[in-house]
Amino acid sequence: MIILIFIISHWYLSLFSQTFFLHRYAAHKMFEMSNFWEKVFYIFTFITQGSSYLSPYAYGVLHKMHHTYTDTEKDPHSPKYDKTIFSMMWRTKELYSSIFDKTVDIDDEFTNGVPQWQAFEKFAHNWMVRLLWAAAYTAFYVIYADAWWVFLFLPVHFIMGPLHGAVINWFAHKFGYRNFNTDNTSVNLMPFDFLMFGEGYHNNHHKNAQNPNFGSKWYELDPAYPIIKFLDFVRVIRIIKT
Ligand SMILES: [Zn+2]
Ligand SMILES: [Zn+2]
Repeated sequence: MIILIFIISHWYLSLFSQTFFLHRYAAHKMFEMSNFWEKVFYIFTFITQGSSYLSPYAYGVLHKMHHTYTDTEKDPHSPKYDKTIFSMMWRTKELYSSIFDKTVDIDDEFTNGVPQWQAFEKFAHNWMVRLLWAAAYTAFYVIYADAWWVFLFLPVHFIMGPLHGAVINWFAHKFGYRNFNTDNTSVNLMPFDFLMFGEGYHNNHHKNAQNPNFGSKWYELDPAYPIIKFLDFVRVIRIIKT
């Protein structure tokens, strides 16, 4: 039971960091926040993604490229150009790493406005730190798992961040329904996206990439949107009206 609570909490907290901070803020700048709050959410992302912490800078740049080059050969990840989800994840990882290490030339349009906190990332992005997180997850399982098969869920914790990305980048360009006839393969994964915290409304998002509400139809509830509205109300962030 404790392990189940751990899996569910880790899934949704990590997902919230990804959709709120990496995707809607770092990549799309749907809202603004002060330097202080930006740093708070850097640390929140580090704690919630842990061993699979994704750099807001590298994620932001990579994701902006996805929107510009969707379903073309220059798309960082596309089921059209990758045979399996694993080969897509590997190709994405390679480009992500070269963006993070700054070993690839990237057009200014993709780097402009994407947040960077190099001193923090040096620590949070380090392999030793990742291994320490993985050891902590394993220790938690050793203490609380009450059957051997429970350990089969452990790898999910190790790769949580990239796993969430891959689910959207693969399945939400392959299986689902469309509200909008966009010139790409984006689809909405499910009418009520309780699993991917609004990220599943990917066709809506490709249609209107700056809209902080990913839902479009009345039944498409985006769980992240009320939280964004609340954070705007209490002035932690300021939604940019477009
Ligand atoms: Zn997409
Ligand atoms: Zn996007």
